[in-house]
Amino acid sequence: MSDRDLLMIPGPIELEPSVLAAMGEKQRGHLDGTFMKRFSRVLKRLRDVFHAPTGQPFVLAGSGTLAMELAAANLVQPGDAALVVNTGYFSDRMGFCLTRHGATVTHVRAAPGAAPSLDEVRKALAGGKYKVLTVTHVDTSTGVLAPVQEYAALAREAGVLSVVDGVCSVGAEALDMDGWGVDVALTGSQKALGAPPGLAVLMAGPRAMAAWKARTQPVRSLYLDFGEWLPIHEAYEAEKPSYFATPPVNLLSALDVSLGLILEEGMAARVARHVRMANAVRAAFKALGLSTLPVSEGLAAHTLSALYYPAGVDAALVKAVAAQGVTIAGGLHPELKTKYFRVGHMGAVSANDVLAVVSAVERALVASKVQVQPGVGVAAAEKALA
Ligand code: PMP
Repeated sequence: MSDRDLLMIPGPIELEPSVLAAMGEKQRGHLDGTFMKRFSRVLKRLRDVFHAPTGQPFVLAGSGTLAMELAAANLVQPGDAALVVNTGYFSDRMGFCLTRHGATVTHVRAAPGAAPSLDEVRKALAGGKYKVLTVTHVDTSTGVLAPVQEYAALAREAGVLSVVDGVCSVGAEALDMDGWGVDVALTGSQKALGAPPGLAVLMAGPRAMAAWKARTQPVRSLYLDFGEWLPIHEAYEAEKPSYFATPPVNLLSALDVSLGLILEEGMAARVARHVRMANAVRAAFKALGLSTLPVSEGLAAHTLSALYYPAGVDAALVKAVAAQGVTIAGGLHPELKTKYFRVGHMGAVSANDVLAVVSAVERALVASKVQVQPGVGVAAAEKALA
């Protein structure tokens, strides 16, 4: 792989040079004044990105999975029941996190590529005494964009906390925690937040914080306990020195730079750009005769596309595309793993990136002896972008 190859997987993603430069800055101490200012700004900026003016942000060293476990560890205790609205691999993982922290978990499942209907979720909610409902905003294994706003409304009606795994959505898909009544949303730094991997990011709304305070049993993990982190985050936000566990200084500086770029673009404009890029990618693959794993356009994410291999092609296509200088990803959903591939298009993604990945797939298909008219996909993408 050359340094000029293009990374188009659903995270980690290509980064803005200024974000990467922050990683290589002089190492500052975790109580350095400049760093405290940056951490404070990260926390404030996250409220804007999540549309959560009254939210409590937490940013910990760790990946998206740690953010999932952070939610589970603090919101449930043994004896609680949780409902997982399941759209794939990462919904299963949320179920494992909740189970590990003592909850009894029920899944309302959809076939791969689909999402449970509102009726199914309403019925499931009525069938138990749940404390939390979880939903994967974009399931990266299927490319399905779940109707989070509607699910969250159902949870609210039922008096159940809603937790959104936004690892593959926050910073790119529309999300209005406050307006939609979402109680927790979480992500990792390496996807649409546009920073390197290594930070678990979680926003807890007031009802989630109240539920944590009302626990009758201690959080079973020291590192994950809101009680350890809350005073630290409050202190950093006020630019005051405080210590529980050493924060990843340069990663937080990189996230600060990226959040600055995100808010400069504006969340509405950023969401609109992702829609435009996703539409161009999809138009191109449709023109090439490929079909998407999400069963309808309305369920297709704007951060990645999951596409079935055409007849006669298998996972070797991913390697053939890499030979054209673009890295894409294979399948992930256990039932369909070998039947589809995934293209990430989030963060700094531009029209040039979209055309490059479409062209690389076209060239790889031609090299794989698939009957496609070279240029058809690129033309369709250009038309969609025009
Ligand atoms: N949830 C979703 C929707 C994801 O896409 C991912 C990562 N692909 C995760 C959770 C887990 O994040 P991580 O790999 O950073 O632990």
